[in-house]
Amino acid sequence: MTTTPQIPAPAHTQADSMLSRHFGRETVNYFSSSPLNRLSFLRSEHPFLSAALRHPSTRFVLLKDLAPLTKTPSELYLAQYDEVRNLVPENFYDKPEEDMIKDFDSRKTTANLIFLGVDETRKQDGLAWKIYTGAPFFALDVTPKGCEEQQNGANAVISAMEAKGLSFFQSRVVMSFSADDAAIYAQARALADWNTRNNYCGTCGNPTLSVNSGTKRACPPTDAARVAEGKTLERPGCNTRTTLSNLSFPRTDPTIIVAVVSTDGKRILLGRSKRFPPNWYSTLAGFIEPAESVEDAVRREVWEEAGVTLSRVIIHSSQPWPYPANLMIGAIAQVSDPAHEEIHLLHDPELEDAKWFDVKEVEEALRVGTSALGEKAGAEYKEGGLRLPPPTAIANQLIRAAVNIDSLTAKGSKM
Ligand SMILES: [Zn+2]
Repeated sequence: MTTTPQIPAPAHTQADSMLSRHFGRETVNYFSSSPLNRLSFLRSEHPFLSAALRHPSTRFVLLKDLAPLTKTPSELYLAQYDEVRNLVPENFYDKPEEDMIKDFDSRKTTANLIFLGVDETRKQDGLAWKIYTGAPFFALDVTPKGCEEQQNGANAVISAMEAKGLSFFQSRVVMSFSADDAAIYAQARALADWNTRNNYCGTCGNPTLSVNSGTKRACPPTDAARVAEGKTLERPGCNTRTTLSNLSFPRTDPTIIVAVVSTDGKRILLGRSKRFPPNWYSTLAGFIEPAESVEDAVRREVWEEAGVTLSRVIIHSSQPWPYPANLMIGAIAQVSDPAHEEIHLLHDPELEDAKWFDVKEVEEALRVGTSALGEKAGAEYKEGGLRLPPPTAIANQLIRAAVNIDSLTAKGSKM
């Protein structure tokens, strides 16, 4: 079954302001603009989290090996507390964080539970806490792992869900959700993945403890499990405890992605990798390196992969990409001298091909030749024509902006 996911449409993108008149309207990308208010300052407030856990309006996004529990490939299944209580005891947040760290016992693992935020459209039946009201959302990792009790709880939850005919949606990249579900899943997936990869302290190698409701991990100074092994309760010293913070934080890896416009503004530079289907091209992309600005990274990547020398680079929009922890920073860039447009693929042989495409051809491809990677192009597509990524990919939005370069600023458009 294929459905067309929607791009998010938050109210602010349509609002008038001096900035939007000058720079044009904001582009929002798939996986961004979550409908939840994250209320990040409540993540360590255990009385709030305790109340949220059992509130009837609360919903849980379940992940097994990062695959989301779904009703259909386009819709998340949102579980209620009764459906997960086998894995999340009612007293989960009873102790304050300080005591959880003090009483740490690495033998007693718990499932990763992550507070995602509150759906504030649910004012009527939502949880009221101080001045905030809404339906709390959590992500819960139900992968059977950890201690026996955790594994049994996880297996019980999975069996009950599968008995209801629900399934964990297996896909390398999930792009079939509605805009709201996609943004919620992106946050859940990125944090579940980060927690799984950080079970051990990066400095001393000892087990860590999830705190701040799944958004930080501590390296506790003691571990009751050591006593059972005839060791001291105190763990060996660790630098993460002697400096300001004993925590590690989730990662976000910045990546650049760029649509390049020719000197005369009439052609767009696109490239293809070997894994793309025939005739499929996209924008160039790569990781930002330490001590590099976004603009420097754009210029370096395009020169390394295509041999083209850029001049002006502008940042256009960005897209969270939870596979596993990227933030795609989208740019439009232009070459200022025709001599700098010559393509050379041999510096860094990452691309199979790179080519300048006439704007007319790109416009036609945007109309008839876009699809998700594994899918067929539209009915009007003619074999041999250029194919491009779908609107859920920031590459598509950048290409769209680049072919309309005059309207990038409100001055050049009818706005
Ligand atoms: Zn440590």
